[in-house]
Amino acid sequence: MIIDGKAIALQIEAEIKDKICKIKPYLAAVTVGTNDATQSYIRNIQKIGSELGVAVEIANLQSNSSTQEVIDLTLHLNSKADGIIIGRPLPSHIDEQAVIAAILPEKDIDCLHPINLGRLILGTPLFTPCTPQAVMEILTRSNTKISGKRVTIVGRSNIVGKPLAIMLIQKGVDATVTICHTKTKELLLHTKSADILIAAVGFPGLIRASMVKPGAVVIDVGINVVEGKLVGDVEFKEVEKMASLITPVPGGVGPITTRLLFRNVLLAKSK
Ligand code: NAD
Repeated sequence: MIIDGKAIALQIEAEIKDKICKIKPYLAAVTVGTNDATQSYIRNIQKIGSELGVAVEIANLQSNSSTQEVIDLTLHLNSKADGIIIGRPLPSHIDEQAVIAAILPEKDIDCLHPINLGRLILGTPLFTPCTPQAVMEILTRSNTKISGKRVTIVGRSNIVGKPLAIMLIQKGVDATVTICHTKTKELLLHTKSADILIAAVGFPGLIRASMVKPGAVVIDVGINVVEGKLVGDVEFKEVEKMASLITPVPGGVGPITTRLLFRNVLLAKSK
């Protein structure tokens, strides 16, 4: 079965819309320079915000701005906005971790601040990071049993693979997780034994049918552009035949991730 990420995204919108209308949160996005992918991601957030009734203000700094200038803007927004996101990647001369550390943890709705990641590990999060949470929403809303299952995550980034692994091993969720990365030997051994396989790599078509256990749940976080078209990390057409549940790209994890950002703004405003 193909999981309809847009339908789940609409469910989440419906769950948060009334509250948003009452509280009217304000989200600030800090961007630096003109990276096309970043600008289009932030504009998409602004568009969804306007549909939901959340003001999303984009504060754009010039590409030659210093780390201190980005930090100063972030500190200023801390006193105004309910939630703050940083458009990433920042230009390479900017110390991204220093900028993230300048966000007040209770306004860090992307859950990137060291305090928020620490709280996530401890199992007492203020927020959960949106993309890993989107994967969790897919699993829970499709009634996928997670407890005791073998989950393999391909990708160990700070925004997807690592926090997702932490979320899956928490008490009460209780998965057994394997994380694979560029230095993993015999990737196939790890993917093939997974009851739930999650690809968060950024490599089109990396996961082939031969790498998937029959009946596995396959979640594709990857977003790649191939010949002008969006594709995931999973070779969808062939893996679809092996999987019991599979997410498409586009229309899978992505739309859920963006709605969860607004759920986090709501949480931030209520704190
Ligand atoms: P990243 O580049 O930070 O991390 C990629 C990870 O994949 C690394 O840990 C690397 O070790 C691993 N990797 C790369 N090649 C590999 C290989 N051949 N075998 C095994 N592991 C390999 O990327 P990221 O920020 O985690 O994003 C991953 C993908 O997810 C990208 O396509 C990105 O666009 C997408 N993404 C989607 C959403 C969404 O909402 N759908 C959100 C964030 C990222």
